[in-house]
Amino acid sequence: MSISVAIDGPAGAGKSTIAKILAKKLGFVYVDTGAMYRAMGYYFSRNGIDKDDFASMSARCEEADIEIRYAEGEQQVFLNGENVNGKIRTEEAGLMASACARNGDVREKLVELQRALAKKTDVVMDGRDIGTNVLPGADVKVYLTASVQTRAKRRFEELRGKGVSCLMAEVEKDIIARDRQDMNREIAPLKQAEDAVLVDSSDLTIEEVVEKICRLIDKGGKN
Ligand code: C5P
Repeated sequence: MSISVAIDGPAGAGKSTIAKILAKKLGFVYVDTGAMYRAMGYYFSRNGIDKDDFASMSARCEEADIEIRYAEGEQQVFLNGENVNGKIRTEEAGLMASACARNGDVREKLVELQRALAKKTDVVMDGRDIGTNVLPGADVKVYLTASVQTRAKRRFEELRGKGVSCLMAEVEKDIIARDRQDMNREIAPLKQAEDAVLVDSSDLTIEEVVEKICRLIDKGGKN
């Protein structure tokens, strides 16, 4: 049986940074499920499908072949054979991902892919519904969060670091909109699983969060 660590939480909480470090430490594979929704959203945008056009999303999600590969330990997302990793990290892609993540057919397709990955190897998987829906039997479940202000500041600095010009107020507005959409959708909304451990990273360094989760893993997932 493979081992899985599930990390869920809102946008900008530091999930991918933490999950990547943890996976490396544990020798597990890191699976970034948000990237799959981003690739799907990118496919819809590229094909002129509106963010509220559920009928077209359902009809056309099967055309989008999404595949995960690894190059030097880094997850790469392929959309119909094209590596789209460099194209899905924008704020627009995040909002489109969140819009299409409300669609049941899209979710069904991606959840199947996520479960198949976790079945064949030990994983640290991050997303919004991993502990509640994708891997309800995960060995360790963490709900990683931080205040809206902290998350917006981190995102802002990350975007600035990549040379993207943006305003702090706009980044904060996008984060609030995405939280609202992810927490209030009908299917698999973002919420803390009953057996997940809450970690608030607002006043913690990356090392402190990693240490906290490692301790949790050592104790078999119980706080
Ligand atoms: O984590 P990331 O910001 O890349 O995720 C983009 C969007 O994909 C999220 O805002 C959410 O709507 C959706 N998502 C999801 N379920 C997951 C992972 C991501 O609905 N497991």
